[in-house]
Amino acid sequence: MTVRNTYEYKKGPHSVYGFRTGRFDFGINTTFIIYRIGGTLIDAGPSNQWPTIKRVLKPLDIHTLLITHHHEDHSGNANRISKFKSLLPYAPLLGQEKLAKGYPTPLLQKLIWGSPLKVQTQTLPETLIINEGTPSQAEVIAIPTPGHAKDLTCLFFPKQKYLFSGDMYISKSLKYLRSDENLQQLITSLETLIELDFEILFCPHRGIVEQGKQALKEKRDNLLNMCRQSQTLMAQGLSESEIVVALLGPEDRLAKISKFNISKGNLIRQAMLYNVKD
Ligand SMILES: [Zn+2]
Repeated sequence: MTVRNTYEYKKGPHSVYGFRTGRFDFGINTTFIIYRIGGTLIDAGPSNQWPTIKRVLKPLDIHTLLITHHHEDHSGNANRISKFKSLLPYAPLLGQEKLAKGYPTPLLQKLIWGSPLKVQTQTLPETLIINEGTPSQAEVIAIPTPGHAKDLTCLFFPKQKYLFSGDMYISKSLKYLRSDENLQQLITSLETLIELDFEILFCPHRGIVEQGKQALKEKRDNLLNMCRQSQTLMAQGLSESEIVVALLGPEDRLAKISKFNISKGNLIRQAMLYNVKD
């Protein structure tokens, strides 16, 4: 197991460093980047990559871990990092119970990321000063952004104009939705983020996106277009599965191996019902 790539956004003491790990290198959806600013980590990475992550973190003075949401690729090692670095991770209030009690993950996700370990956390406050008393001290504002997950919380650094986006970005054009994702909330959360004064987006799957706000706008616009197109085709009498094929092509292997937990149909079904306000 190795580090697959490293990342750096240079900004003096507020430089951001990242490293990508993952069991399978089938693209950005099977690998994960842990970011660090000073002694603060953003997300904990998948549990099956612990040997690599431990090796990278060993020489570093880490005192704070911020978790964006409970999903196993983001929280998998929070327990181990909390013990390794003697810290109590911060997590969004809505994710804390799942993190503490554990939760089942589908077989496909277990295969890619491993199983997350249960972890005690403290509630991520609305605002937080990290790296206090050091040159990399910074204010972080927690921005609740439900849709992908109920507890998903983005981390906004107003002074540095950074946004750590959890799973709010990943790609400009979504082709799939998980069965537990909510498209209406997702688009509302994208609108919330677009209102913020940020420039650089740090996505744990895609990487560093320098035109971050533009990227989120394009994602929102693409989703709204898909909603409009789905509804036009629906009005012409096409069925859900016909609209899937017309706009995204037929369901592929991902839908079958995830037992339709991750599918194009999940996305189109919600796009057909989305309340588009022009
Ligand atoms: Zn997620």
